[in-house]
Amino acid sequence: MKTTSDIEEFKKLLDEKFIILAPFCGGVDCEEDIKKATTREDGDGAQMGAKTLCIPLEQPKQELPSKCLYPSCTEAAKFFALFGRSY
Ligand SMILES: [Zn+2]
Repeated sequence: MKTTSDIEEFKKLLDEKFIILAPFCGGVDCEEDIKKATTREDGDGAQMGAKTLCIPLEQPKQELPSKCLYPSCTEAAKFFALFGRSY
C-alpha cells in the first residue's frame, strides 16, 4: 500500500498494482472523473479505472493535504480513501 496525493504518481502506482491511499473529497462525480482518468486501453481490452475501495477508519497520521487528489477537482479533501483498480 502506498500513499500519494499526485495524480501522475497515482496512475503509475495503480499500474504497478498497488492499493493507494489518497486524499479525496468524497464526491461521486469526482470518483467518476478519477475512474475515467485512470482507465486505459491495452492490447487485451480495456483496463478498469480506479475506484474507492473504502475509507479507512484509522486515517494516516500524516496531515491530510488540503486538496483532493484529482487536479481539476475544486473540492477540499475530506479524508484519505483507499483506491484500487477494479477488474
Ligand atoms: Zn475530488
